[in-house]
Amino acid sequence: MDAAWPCAYTDWAMSETPVRNLIIIGSGPAGLTAAIYAARANLKPLCIEGFSAGGLIPGGQLMFTTDVENYPGFPEKVTGQELMQRFRDQAEHQGTEFVTADVTKVDLSQRPFKVWTDEAMFLAKAVIVATGARANYLGLPSEEGLKNKGVSACAVCDGALFRNQDVAVVGGGDTAMEEASYLAGLCKSVTLIHRRDEFRASKAMVQRVVENPKIKILYSHVVEEVLGAAEDHVTGIVVKSLKTGEKNTVPLAAMFVAIGHTPMTDLFVGQLETHPNGYLKTTPGSSRTSVEGVFAAGDVQDWTYRQAVTAAGTGCMAALDAERWLGAQGAH
Ligand code: NDP
Repeated sequence: MDAAWPCAYTDWAMSETPVRNLIIIGSGPAGLTAAIYAARANLKPLCIEGFSAGGLIPGGQLMFTTDVENYPGFPEKVTGQELMQRFRDQAEHQGTEFVTADVTKVDLSQRPFKVWTDEAMFLAKAVIVATGARANYLGLPSEEGLKNKGVSACAVCDGALFRNQDVAVVGGGDTAMEEASYLAGLCKSVTLIHRRDEFRASKAMVQRVVENPKIKILYSHVVEEVLGAAEDHVTGIVVKSLKTGEKNTVPLAAMFVAIGHTPMTDLFVGQLETHPNGYLKTTPGSSRTSVEGVFAAGDVQDWTYRQAVTAAGTGCMAALDAERWLGAQGAH
């Protein structure tokens, strides 16, 4: 912390609020990996880890998954919660300071940057945004109670739990095609349900799906209900044809919802540049955003890979980029 760092806000420069080297917003794999690297570089980072699932999710999306079997280094499966606790312990052990609160506002227009929670305002020379993304769900009441009990938004994470069973994928974009193809390699059958009679996904990916004998496509259908509340796991779904209104029950063990993700960028609207799909823009090959001194890592800037390990990788990039940038400013 360095209260003497050039401060545009004279009143604050003279106030008690210290100017920190680095604030990390978010505590999923990206934010916590950034924290580990930044702390080891002696930046004494502050990680604002989020308080409620309504705002930032402490620990990120992994807190809502069950077993993680694809994070390297854990040959015996590990739960999402345990994995994130280990990340957090390591970040804390290396010297990261944590604040458990939702960030309510940021001002990235001048340096030092300002970050508010309900209780306090923090100043920082550099900021890493690692706020993640939220999977979109259908919004059915029956779906909510069966999340992680057969309702999933990630085939790569949960598909193996349903080996040799019947499953469904909902959606018509590239993710739905990818998930359907992936699941067809593991499961007995995949019913792909799309609300229109034409897919949004790229031709090549549609082709793979259409040609796969294990995938059955229900065009112009919507899911009306997820069954299995009494059994406490998914046992089937009720689908409705939008053309005829006919309803049918499809028995299956899991429903994978692939109807897009929403990046958590509300705090940064009008301050950081985004792609047309809402994800934060970073300079290719780096974590630099459109504002100098602000870096982005993890799912808030990645709609393609979206894995814990890739989020962790970009968290490392952001910490290294921030450290180098601070060094070049003579600020650290
Ligand atoms: P998209 O937004 O591309 O597709 C979402 C799909 O879900 C659409 O087909 C949409 O239907 C459907 N949908 C949305 N809301 C509902 C709802 N409430 N009920 C039923 N269906 C719904 O999201 P994706 O995650 O598929 O892709 C996001 C981005 O990532 C895209 O740019 C995609 O190209 C890219 N991507 C690329 C990959 C690759 O190249 N390997 C892999 C995965 C993603 P409708 O079509 O009617 O709007």
